[in-house]
Amino acid sequence: MPDGSGLLTVDLGAIAENWKSLRDRHTGMGGGETGAAVKADAYGLGAARVVPALAAAGCRHFFVAHLAEGMAIRPLLGQGQMIAVLNGFRPGEDEDAALTPVLNTPGDIGAWSGTGRDALLHIDTGMARLGLTPAETEALAGDPSPLRGLNLRYLMTHLAAADAPGHPLSAEQAARFAAARARLPAAPSSFANSSGLFLGPDFASDLARPGCAIYGLNPAPGAPNPMRPVIRLAAPVLQVREIPAGTPVGYGATWVAERPSRIATVAAGYADGYLRALSGRATGRHNGQDLPLVGRVSMDLTTFDVTDHPGIAPGAMIELIGPGLSADGLAARAGTIGYEVLTSLGARYRRDYKQAA
Ligand SMILES: *Cc1c(COP(=O)(O)O)cnc(C)c1O
Repeated sequence: MPDGSGLLTVDLGAIAENWKSLRDRHTGMGGGETGAAVKADAYGLGAARVVPALAAAGCRHFFVAHLAEGMAIRPLLGQGQMIAVLNGFRPGEDEDAALTPVLNTPGDIGAWSGTGRDALLHIDTGMARLGLTPAETEALAGDPSPLRGLNLRYLMTHLAAADAPGHPLSAEQAARFAAARARLPAAPSSFANSSGLFLGPDFASDLARPGCAIYGLNPAPGAPNPMRPVIRLAAPVLQVREIPAGTPVGYGATWVAERPSRIATVAAGYADGYLRALSGRATGRHNGQDLPLVGRVSMDLTTFDVTDHPGIAPGAMIELIGPGLSADGLAARAGTIGYEVLTSLGARYRRDYKQAA
């Protein structure tokens, strides 16, 4: 019997296989190493379990967004494994964790200049988000002395539209990155995210930084997903209710039964990352059969029409994400992307990690 909470199954073997296939793809396009983006608690799947699985698969370069995320995973890794902090941090803040700052501004370069530390330098080639602006890059090319006393491990840039194959911005970014590298002091390059690894050899670099595809999301939207599915999410039925035609279900009475119906109330809601925007737009699954979600998703509960499935009783598990019910597909129905579905997965699920074989 379920304990009343949902069950999130994370397949660490599939994570390792996905990372290896991305590594092989990068090598095959002429690239060097392949790291892993493990920011936001490894896209919601649990960095404490995902990072060791990736390290065991051979990954030696890890990317987090925040200093605290880097501090949290350092004990899981050897000192030889790079943990780069994309949002940067100030000298000393990493104590003895030997994290690697990403320098995003001339001020960052100034702060780290002369420390002798490893660093990545982020050049903005078309996102206007983080990294040196074109003018700042130009100024640094004219006078690279602020980089003295720094071990520039990688020059990096980030693709803005890699998930839209053929978007002209990607080729422009590749050209701007090559031009900037030619003007700056020589250093290895770090370029492609997951989708960039599907754009061809112009996007190979010394260190790729895939994230989403490791976790099973489709890096090449529009084509069949080449990655192995990683998660399954199921939640238990708490009650099954027989209602006559004309009965409204849930907040706002947005759905009214047109026939005598059976409604299963399941223990997952938007507080668990089962997005409210899915209200009336998703299906759950039981024994391979689709169950329409009816009415609003509420904070802790969601209702499914099980009129045609008399076997479903309290305690039955309804699958919310799984084979044929992908996080990408769910995201499309909610008007968002699979990244948001994964990083929204709540803390209330029991988590079952399947070890790599
Ligand atoms: C998140 C992130 C990545 C990984 O991107 P995916 O699209 O998940 O593969 C790589 N580089 C940077 C700078 C990022 O912020």
